[in-house]
Amino acid sequence: MKSRTKAVVIGGGIAGCSTLYHLTQEGWTDVVLVERNELTSGTTWHSAAQVTNFGMNQTMVGLKSHSIRLYKELAEDPDYPINYHHGDGGIRLANTEAQMQGYRHFASMARGMDVHFEVIDAQECARRHPLISTENLIGGLWDPLDGDIDPAQLCQALARRARKAGAEVYRNTPVTALTQHSDDTWTVHTEHGDIDCDVVVNACGYRVNEVGAMMGVHHPVASMEHQYFLTEEIPAIRDAGHRMPLLRCPISDYYCRQEKNGLLLGFYEQNCKTWGMDGIDPNFVNALCPDDLDRVTDVLEGAFARMPALMEAGVHTVVNGPITYTIDGAPLVGPIPGKRNAFCIIGLRAGLGEGGGHGWLLAQQIVHGEACYDTWCLDPRRFTGHANVELTALKAIEDYQNEFRFHFPHEHRPAGRPAKTTPLTPVLAAEGAEFTVINGWERVDYIKPSPEFTHALSFDFDETFDLVAAEVASVQAGVGLAEVNGFNRIEITGADRHSFLDRMLCGTVTRKTGRVGLGYLLNHHGMIKAEATVANLPASDRGPERVWYGSAAASEFHDMDWLTRHIRAGEDVQLRSLTNDQTILILAGPKSRDVLSTCARGDWSAQAFPWLSLRECYVGFAPATVMAVSFSGELAYEIHVPNASLYAAYLALRQAGEAHGLNLFGARAVESMRMEKSFLHWKADLITEFDPFETGLERFVKLDKSDFIGRDALLKRQSDGPRKKLVALQLQATDQPAHPGASLIQDGQVVGTVTSGAWGHRVGLNLAHAFVNPALAEVGTEIDLDSCGQIVRATIIPPSPYDPGFDRVKA
Ligand SMILES: Cc1cc2nc3c(=O)[nH]c(=O)nc-3n(C[C@H](O)[C@H](O)[C@H](O)COP(=O)(O)OP(=O)(O)OC[C@H]3O[C@@H](n4cnc5c(N)ncnc54)[C@H](O)[C@@H]3O)c2cc1C
Repeated sequence: MKSRTKAVVIGGGIAGCSTLYHLTQEGWTDVVLVERNELTSGTTWHSAAQVTNFGMNQTMVGLKSHSIRLYKELAEDPDYPINYHHGDGGIRLANTEAQMQGYRHFASMARGMDVHFEVIDAQECARRHPLISTENLIGGLWDPLDGDIDPAQLCQALARRARKAGAEVYRNTPVTALTQHSDDTWTVHTEHGDIDCDVVVNACGYRVNEVGAMMGVHHPVASMEHQYFLTEEIPAIRDAGHRMPLLRCPISDYYCRQEKNGLLLGFYEQNCKTWGMDGIDPNFVNALCPDDLDRVTDVLEGAFARMPALMEAGVHTVVNGPITYTIDGAPLVGPIPGKRNAFCIIGLRAGLGEGGGHGWLLAQQIVHGEACYDTWCLDPRRFTGHANVELTALKAIEDYQNEFRFHFPHEHRPAGRPAKTTPLTPVLAAEGAEFTVINGWERVDYIKPSPEFTHALSFDFDETFDLVAAEVASVQAGVGLAEVNGFNRIEITGADRHSFLDRMLCGTVTRKTGRVGLGYLLNHHGMIKAEATVANLPASDRGPERVWYGSAAASEFHDMDWLTRHIRAGEDVQLRSLTNDQTILILAGPKSRDVLSTCARGDWSAQAFPWLSLRECYVGFAPATVMAVSFSGELAYEIHVPNASLYAAYLALRQAGEAHGLNLFGARAVESMRMEKSFLHWKADLITEFDPFETGLERFVKLDKSDFIGRDALLKRQSDGPRKKLVALQLQATDQPAHPGASLIQDGQVVGTVTSGAWGHRVGLNLAHAFVNPALAEVGTEIDLDSCGQIVRATIIPPSPYDPGFDRVKA
């Protein structure tokens, strides 16, 4: 066994084998995999091993396409062929128009990744899958490349190729401890000796937290028991003359594929069970949980009704094994929060189909620092402090129960809520607030007109349209108040704070005390990593001169990790998170100055406190830091208040606002207004796949300043020219917004992808942002949008259709 290597991958299931193989493909060949037993002896060996292409976003579709390409190549390798039924096809069923509309959106989105789903009616479903009845069926989504693979052969093939490239695999070698050294390298302690390495990867399946504990972390991953059975031969299948496509049923919660001349039927029962919550027997190896078909009778009835031939078929094998889930159903693939040189590829619930792609994206992150797609939907840092074991289990159960029911826009399911609140949450609930969820935070979405009010789950504009219009109108004409909780805030102190930030941001960093600036952080490839406000606070009884670095609510761990990692030895820079201590109250609208002047002493005139100013003060008697910044395009103030004083500040503002007709507004109104100003959203419009020039942020880049992260790469990118350009669009449709991922089409070709969309209530336009081919980025160009299957005309418009001169924010 080697005593020193570059990377040690712990775990020899599909996740570990795929990572090992892809590390060698990305150029790291001195790498090792250690497995406590035999390869595939965790979940992988008994997987139903269906391989599908469907995903909720382009990253998922792209990584699954990679799996499919790779598996096909492996299957066709004459030296080591493996069993892969490629291209049997698969159908996701639907019995509501809303589901069908969703499928049309996902088909539009997948088209941008060169993946061609078809939305078909019930008769066509039955034609393609002769065993199913059309009872209570409207249609489905056809995925032409679906299939299934032999999981053990797949892992052996990957390990074999990795070995050929130089990697080593140590079986029957349990990892017993991990030690990290002061230079961030690791020692992996095993039962057969120690291995020193630069990087460790946790790929331990349901034992993820045994290895997590060895490095002092608890990953938000929970296991569920999951069952399928295999039937005896079914004559209709034997005689069909072709293989049956896969089925996924969100109506009755089962999946099904052909196995020999019978079926394999898997279940997602409502009466489901977590597994291993209080520890896992060390001897649970190549093992299964006890069968329990009684638990799935509800689901079975639905499957029998859909496929009557099943009722005649005997069951010959039942498989019940642990399957891992995370808080949002997507795996955790990337850097481990708070650790250096430590990565994970865990929480895979469809690991056979996805594992090829996940290992590919992880290896790119390890070797190059970033993957070819934006991997935020997989990033382990997307969950923060609330992601504990109990909440994870609740979300795992909910997700399991809804396995094939995709989330609609604005849908937030009830389990594990409310995870993060402020003292105002119950107060705003009593005011009629409906909440959305951002990284666990309950944030006001809109104010309901009555307690019974609900909105439909739909891709169309819904019942909130007029309510949001009224909230926006009240901000535009008078003044509105909104709570923005969970906004990421990092306090940066130390004499080198500005030179440090100069290195981190690609533009000018505001140094002047009492001023706020906006800037962008790039990765080493010159792509957009983060967006931040830099606010310079004065020395006062609240602290020394310091910077508040502010960024999106979900970015708390991500940005802290990036900043911490780049502090140089000897640099006088200290970082402290204030995210959970402070909340922002936004006061917006032409009368906001009047309200602020009523409850906060001082001169708030435009001359004394112009746009982008900052001041420490009191709102009523609540200590507050006020910044003259605006995401709405109206005169506005961000009022940052410690949570302990939040209710006091709120009461002071409400009281002061009474005379000015102050109303509450929520996130949907903010979304509408920010689209009208062409302000961008992190991880919607701002992603690591594009550089600041492509994203239209030239004015925030200063190439001639001192060196900054990403500068060299950006200079090269600039000389190569943009691959896409972010543009503002106006759509002709009035029934639905543009949804992220939807494809823009010209002459039958995909020429762009939507990143955001919302109705602009002040301009009365259906607005979108999209990355399009540079040749089409001219204002006035018309393109077709595939909007849930409808072709909608879209015109490129100048940015900031509302108040392009920014007169209102500076008023
Ligand atoms: C019944 C069932 C059906 C499924 N059907 C499908 C399907 O149709 N399609 C699909 O895509 N997915 C399916 N899945 C899910 C899929 O099988 C899993 O996502 C996948 O196998 C997980 O692989 P893994 O490598 O993450 O974990 P595992 O296969 O569990 O591998 C983890 C490995 O880590 C090793 N390990 C643990 N601790 C240590 C240690 N301390 N030291 C060294 N090694 C260690 C273990 O021994 C194990 O080999 C199914 C799952 C189940 C249960």
